[in-house]
Formats: sequence, C-alpha cells, structure tokens
Amino acid sequence: MLELDQLVMDFSGFRAVNGCSFRVDEGSITALIGPNGAGKTTLFNLIAGALVPTSGTIRFLGEDVTGLSSDALFHKGLVRTFQIPHEFHRLTALENLMMVPPAQIGEGLFANWLSWGKVRASEAEVEQKAYDTLEFLELTHVAHQRAGNLSGGQKKLLELGRTMMTDAKLVLLDEPAAGVNRTLLRKLEEKIQILNKERGYTFILIEHDMEMIEKLCDPVICMAEGAVLIQGDFQTVRSDARVLEAYLGE
Ligand code: ADP
Repeated sequence: MLELDQLVMDFSGFRAVNGCSFRVDEGSITALIGPNGAGKTTLFNLIAGALVPTSGTIRFLGEDVTGLSSDALFHKGLVRTFQIPHEFHRLTALENLMMVPPAQIGEGLFANWLSWGKVRASEAEVEQKAYDTLEFLELTHVAHQRAGNLSGGQKKLLELGRTMMTDAKLVLLDEPAAGVNRTLLRKLEEKIQILNKERGYTFILIEHDMEMIEKLCDPVICMAEGAVLIQGDFQTVRSDARVLEAYLGE
C-alpha cells in the first residue's frame, strides 16, 4: 500500500531522515517506535505531505506521490490525525466531525470545505454520518458537548472519528495512547482493531505505549538516527539488543 524508498530529509544541513525505506502492507497496523529524535515525526510529515523530501520516493497504492500536498493525499485516502485545533474546542463533538476536511487539509480552510461539501453530500447526510461515527465510538452522549470539555481519551476517540468521516484508507496516528486513561485506552484499541479488521483501514502509529503496540501492531519498525534500525514482530523487535541500545543512548 505504501512504499518508502531511501527517503532523506535535510533541515538546513541537519539530516533528520537518513535513507529510510520500508513497506506497509494493506490491512496492517504498523508501529513506528524509536527514541526521541529518531525522525518518526519528520517521517510522518513526509508521508502525509506536510514536508517534501530532500530525496527518495514515496509510493501510495502503486502511484508515485512524492511531493504531493497533504490536500492531494487526503483525497487519495491518506489521512493523518491531528489534535483538535484550538479554534475547534468551542465546537461540539458533532460539529467537529462535520467540519473534518478543513482541519485535515490545512490550507484554505473554509473554501476547501465548501467546495468539497458540494461534491460530497448534503449537510443532512454529513450530519447522519457524524452521528453514526459518534455511535460507533460510543460518544453519542457527548455529541453536543464542546470538544474542549472532553477528556483526553474522548478527544483521541474524536480524532479517530474525524478520519472516519473521510473514508480514509491509510491513517497515520500520532501517539494515540498519550494522555488517555486506561479505560478509554482499551476502547480506543478496540475501535482501531474494528476499523482495521472490519472496515479495511490500514494504520501506522507512532507510539510509546508498549502494551498498545503489543496488542495491535505487526510489524513494529524501530527507527534510530533517521533510518530503520530493525523491523519485525513485537517480540523480535523488543528483544533486539540494538533497540535497547538505541533507547539507552537517548
Ligand atoms: P522523533 O519524532 O522521532 O522524536 P523528529 O522527527 O521530531 O524525531 O526529529 C528528528 C530530528 O530532526 C531531531 O533531531 C529534531 O531536532 C530534528 N528536526 C525536526 N524538525 C526539524 C526542523 N523543522 N528543523 C530542524 N531540525 C528539525
């Protein structure tokens, strides 16, 4: 589904991503781990079209998408979740779902949404889909609460819901477990699993929560110094001496 070939990203002389190559199979949940500064976030930005690589190629669904904007990738079904933007905190959970495209596209906010809305569906259909999404996430009871008042875990579920409004194929999740209490964490894991197994979503997660990774992810890719250190199943990666060493050097 996704193929990265020798990706390099330089920031004024500093090489944050250094010849990174791997493939993501359709239907998988891939974990991206590694010590701070390993280049995970930069790699996400490259995959999602927020940054253009210095060199290397990115293929998505068989097509060379290197350098395409996040907007173009979004329309192809490659979506990255972001924290609910500050200005959306005053909107309700329901409204946040109905406003998904501008937040994901990130440019020409409302103009984009309006033109997208025309080809997409009537407002009533969008609203219905938003309600269905809230029901799936077991968030119906907070539909009319302001997003800013939701708990950390509810916000994460809502962020996941925002990707569901777009019929995404590949979803990039940035630390989904961060700031989520144990109860909602189980729920979040369950929803990710259902989206993966029953609705055909492929996921890539940047995550530090090893319990979540063990439960959900195969393969696990460990990055260090901008490149892939090792890739394999959870046990293989966790027990590899190079992984331990990379974290110790953090
Ligand atoms: P991780 O997400 O694995 O912690 P990052 O991708 O955030 O790693 O960062 C990798 C390296 O690139 C770090 O050393 C970081 O300081 C550097 N870096 C990231 N973004 C920039 C930027 N915009 N300009 C300069 N250096 C950057």
